[in-house]
Amino acid sequence: MLDITKEYLSNNFKINEEVFKVSEQALKDVSEQFKLLDEIREFNQLKVLNAFQEERISDMHFTNSSGYGYGDVGRDSLDKVFARVFNAEAALVRPHFVNGTHAIGCALFGNLRPGDTLLTVCGSPYDTLHNIIGISKETNIGSLREYGVNYKQIELTATGKVNIEEMQKVLSEDSSIKMVHIQRSTGYGWRNSLMVSEIAEVIKAAKEAKDEVICFVDNCYGEFVDTVEPTDVGADLIAGSLIKNAGGGIAPTGGYIAGKEAYVNQAAYRLTIPGIGGECGSTFGVMRTLFQGLFLAPHVAMEAVKTAIFCARIMELLGFEVLPKSTERRSDIIQAIKFKDKDKVINFCKGIQAGSPIDSFVECEPWDMPGYEDQVIMAAGAFIQGSSIELSADAPIREPYIAYLQGGLTFDHGKTGVLMALSRII
Ligand SMILES: *Cc1c(COP(=O)(O)O)cnc(C)c1O
Repeated sequence: MLDITKEYLSNNFKINEEVFKVSEQALKDVSEQFKLLDEIREFNQLKVLNAFQEERISDMHFTNSSGYGYGDVGRDSLDKVFARVFNAEAALVRPHFVNGTHAIGCALFGNLRPGDTLLTVCGSPYDTLHNIIGISKETNIGSLREYGVNYKQIELTATGKVNIEEMQKVLSEDSSIKMVHIQRSTGYGWRNSLMVSEIAEVIKAAKEAKDEVICFVDNCYGEFVDTVEPTDVGADLIAGSLIKNAGGGIAPTGGYIAGKEAYVNQAAYRLTIPGIGGECGSTFGVMRTLFQGLFLAPHVAMEAVKTAIFCARIMELLGFEVLPKSTERRSDIIQAIKFKDKDKVINFCKGIQAGSPIDSFVECEPWDMPGYEDQVIMAAGAFIQGSSIELSADAPIREPYIAYLQGGLTFDHGKTGVLMALSRII
């Protein structure tokens, strides 16, 4: 770090000497790991570049469409670029997906029918899926359950792995299971994300037990963290959000689905309507941002992972329990930190907010959010509302006071945000 930088941080960002010292140590400790991340990033960048070249992406793909949006070449070509990047038969990348939950919901509703059963093998799925499935304590109106789709759930083992034996048993006993749902990221749990190699084993075992079962992976927060994606290892269908990794911090909204053509088409029938699918939908002039976001995504995802690892290491040095540990391989961009102290978790989140480019002057407070049992504090000073590829942190206000940190469009900013948050608690 330049002397001028140190002075600047101290004068303008009120970072104290003690925080500096641990920061330098943490940076030293993670430097080897950062080299591996650079290598993953390089490979993924080539993968994306090649897809753009193979699809001969040109200025004309950034044009607008209106009305029905028939023959929107930009939209159709972006689907093909995504399909190539994810090594899938087809993809559906749309600003019309309002979020990741919507994309996942379309994948499920589009491919499940009355009498079918959805089997989750990673324990309780991400909160917003509960309403889709019909297991929410709030409202289940319009859920899969209402349409006669059944649900079964297998818990993770004590070590956070998929219980493969149990999954195979359930699959061979229950002939109604049409889809296996695998969640790559931890969501708001205290467990490791599933490595793509682990997902590969789960898929292989599921197909062994039942050849025709659809293996769906919730890929949120996982894109470009590894050199392979679930679709490289046999996933039939994946979905994710464009205001997380895959949008590179540039996509203003949207989601994607990728996988086997037949399943992607069924999902498209749910996003729009049977007979129309992905062939309609004007794109409001956002195509360039979706292309450019994907192009930047391998880089930006790694900036976020670096921020997470740096945060993990510095918190470890200060005696906090973190998950994953700074040295563990990871499959998503989430960092969980256990504070065991209400004031500390709140001040940490306030510090992240204060370190944001947007709304840095705003003091975030815990509040009652719909769908959550406890109050939640959310720090999100983002260019794009709710974007969690941008530096953000949130924490349910309950024991043992865990904060979840994610994002960081640039590591320089991610690091500064973490240092500012730390300055508020030590
Ligand atoms: C973010 C996320 C989703 C979808 O959330 P949205 O806020 O609707 O984009 C689904 N599953 C997991 C694991 C996630 O992290």
